Amino acid sequence: MTFLDLLQKKRDGQALAGAEIEFIISDYLKDRIPDYQMSALLMAIYFQGMNDNETVTLTRLMRDSGVVMDFSHLDGPKVDKHSTGGVGDKVSLILAPLMAAAGIYVPMISGRGLGHTGGTLDKLEAIPGFRTQLSLREFRELTEKIGACLIGQTAEICPADRRLYALRDVTGTVPAMPLICASILSKKLAEGLNALVLDVKVGRGAIFEEAAQAEELALRLIQTGLAFNLKIIAVLTDMSQPLGHAIGNWLEVLEAIEVLQGRGPDDVVQVTLALGAAMLKAAGKVNDWRKGREQLSLLLHNGAAWEKFLQIVRAQGGEIAVLEQPKKYSPPQHREQVLSEQAGFVAGIDARTLGRLSMNLGAGRMQLKQAVDPLAGITLHKKIGDRVERGELLATWQSSTVAITPDWRATLHDCIRFAIVSPKLPPTLIARFDETGKYGWE
Ligand code: URA
Repeated sequence: MTFLDLLQKKRDGQALAGAEIEFIISDYLKDRIPDYQMSALLMAIYFQGMNDNETVTLTRLMRDSGVVMDFSHLDGPKVDKHSTGGVGDKVSLILAPLMAAAGIYVPMISGRGLGHTGGTLDKLEAIPGFRTQLSLREFRELTEKIGACLIGQTAEICPADRRLYALRDVTGTVPAMPLICASILSKKLAEGLNALVLDVKVGRGAIFEEAAQAEELALRLIQTGLAFNLKIIAVLTDMSQPLGHAIGNWLEVLEAIEVLQGRGPDDVVQVTLALGAAMLKAAGKVNDWRKGREQLSLLLHNGAAWEKFLQIVRAQGGEIAVLEQPKKYSPPQHREQVLSEQAGFVAGIDARTLGRLSMNLGAGRMQLKQAVDPLAGITLHKKIGDRVERGELLATWQSSTVAITPDWRATLHDCIRFAIVSPKLPPTLIARFDETGKYGWE
């Protein structure tokens, strides 16, 4: 068996046997397969897909390429949440402390921003001093002591995913269902969880723009999870416009703080409570969705979630003073207001392009090793359905490193579509899925 035989087999639409996938992963990690050949295989998988057996085998081999954590000594459920990625998605920053305050252990291994989507690690690192590169021993200890710990992927966890994801990112093979399933689940299975809640984003700012594809991904993730005895609830949420008002690392930390203090934009609160209730339900802590959401809403309003957030930040080396008094954060070098050139109702906001603009400002990276500007980003003052008058403030953007160009100004105006009449609002919560089927939101 040679790699070329297997590559041609997949190119021709045949399923790979378990031993063949094992050979591929093992030889790739030993640098016996060059990236150009592996890229061709990823593209063959993108076009030909993988069946359930192949997906489960790939997930298992990727999980076992590194350390699999064991939290079985902890006295409560271990549940994490993973988002397929969006623009303005700061929910992990709120959910980890909120769920820890509700008695769930959340050992969260997060990612950096990819393409136009932001990443939890870059947001956390906007807090001066916050350390995301902890040893697995410290990760284990802090999860046990505080209830939640948020770290970046380490060399020990899923090295196969690190290498494959980096290659997919530059070969146009990210949106391949079996590769997404194996990538997400291998990492989550390595966290030693009892259950997982997935936020599958749908719309222009998400990996999949169409609900049908997002549903297929949700079902495949649930199905693959079952093979590992991992209970998964998938929640489909809207990404046709950015979540909340803030896009960019420090701006999103500030918006997360608002929600942790019982305020914040309605869509961010809705998504947080829905995912949190799903985590409680997956952990067997509540039966009733409404009760779950009420219980968590109380923790946002009585200060418990905020206190837990401060505890996490302190334990991971972050400065508390700037969280309590954000004015202490030095201001960005460039800041500019964008005024509306027309009157009407906002009918659409192009989340993907705004994500790219925010990246241009320095909030994301064009190359893997690039540093991000914590202050770069965009604040949207209007969302779909809002009435806007000509000359009214639409958005503010800022950057510490680059000046805003006339081209970008034009692009930003193009991102916001107007209508004369009030448009139908996109539902923030679209549907939820578990192993028994698809459900709506009451
Ligand atoms: N998030 C991941 O971790 N992996 C993917 O493949 C896509 C989204």
